[in-house]
Amino acid sequence: MTTSDEVRAVAITPAQPGNVKLVTIAVAEPGPGEVEISVIRVGVCGTDRELIRGEIGFPPPGTDDLILGHEVVGRVSKLGSDLIGLAPGDLVTVTVRRPDGCAACVAGEPDMCLDRNYTERGIAGAHGFMAERIIEHRDWVIRVPDRLEPVAMLTEPLTVVEKAVRQAELIQRRLNYWNLKTAVVMGAGPIGLLGTLLLRSRGVDTYTLARTPAPNPAAAIVTASGATYISTREQSAQDLAATLPNIDLILESSGSSQVVFESMRLLGNNSVLVLLSLTGGHDTHEVPAAELNTSLVAGNKVVVGSVNAGMVDFANAVESLARFDELWPGLTASMITHRFTLDDDLAAATGKLPGGIKSVIEFGNGR
Ligand SMILES: [Zn+2]
Repeated sequence: MTTSDEVRAVAITPAQPGNVKLVTIAVAEPGPGEVEISVIRVGVCGTDRELIRGEIGFPPPGTDDLILGHEVVGRVSKLGSDLIGLAPGDLVTVTVRRPDGCAACVAGEPDMCLDRNYTERGIAGAHGFMAERIIEHRDWVIRVPDRLEPVAMLTEPLTVVEKAVRQAELIQRRLNYWNLKTAVVMGAGPIGLLGTLLLRSRGVDTYTLARTPAPNPAAAIVTASGATYISTREQSAQDLAATLPNIDLILESSGSSQVVFESMRLLGNNSVLVLLSLTGGHDTHEVPAAELNTSLVAGNKVVVGSVNAGMVDFANAVESLARFDELWPGLTASMITHRFTLDDDLAAATGKLPGGIKSVIEFGNGR
């Protein structure tokens, strides 16, 4: 039993990899400008698994434990003083990164942080959202329409591709005219699938490449959105590219550094490759360096990295989730393949599951 100011939470000890545990923590009263949020559910992603394996992440100062979770939907349950714009009962999600004092952060773009001394809730130096109740400052809280409650924890992963496409559009202002007509998405994990839906919602001819042959749950989502699913075990990316018109945009979310360089070879003229995979480890590959360089130079091609997302991307992602549901009712929700509660085995809840796309942990605060 927990007292009223204590809640159950999912934590790791970053210094001791491999152990996901249920803990009880105290929740403070919301301070000026802050709200208390009763958490409905939190998504589990590859970053959480890297954290559990001890590959990344560190706890907040003064503790050995880090509460996980950075994909959240909840309802405002308590208001601090000096709070405008939010009311109890509002459905909300929360951004992840908190700024340091660098020029980019001061300019309002912590996702473009120069010094990388930022904190990230549930990842780096700040507790995450896998707790029954959390406290957050109003500045980082985004309201979500009620009807998006089942999918609103996908806002955060969707912001990654919202930013990617926005960056590509900003870059392409170098051209007098850019017609985004044909795109390739590398990888059919949650990021690749959300990228596929985003591009399809804009009417872009989209080809999503992954290893696993169809039928599988990810391929079904790709196909239902009107995109084409290609298993690279059945058709190579190079063979596919030979059948396509100029590839205008590639979103790389395969998690493989080898695929990053293969993607450079597929890129059409005047096009953009946005790299989204944080590839841990120290893999090396042989690449056709001269050929790649000449192709990038002669074709005016851009390769750009993109991480995290800005406030504008969160606002756009909420709009996109609504648009997805109009275009393909229930399709986004079908990405949630596994559902757990705090009473379940937390190692299973946070682990990779066969055929699984997105696992969520329910915190029991739904209506
Ligand atoms: Zn910064």
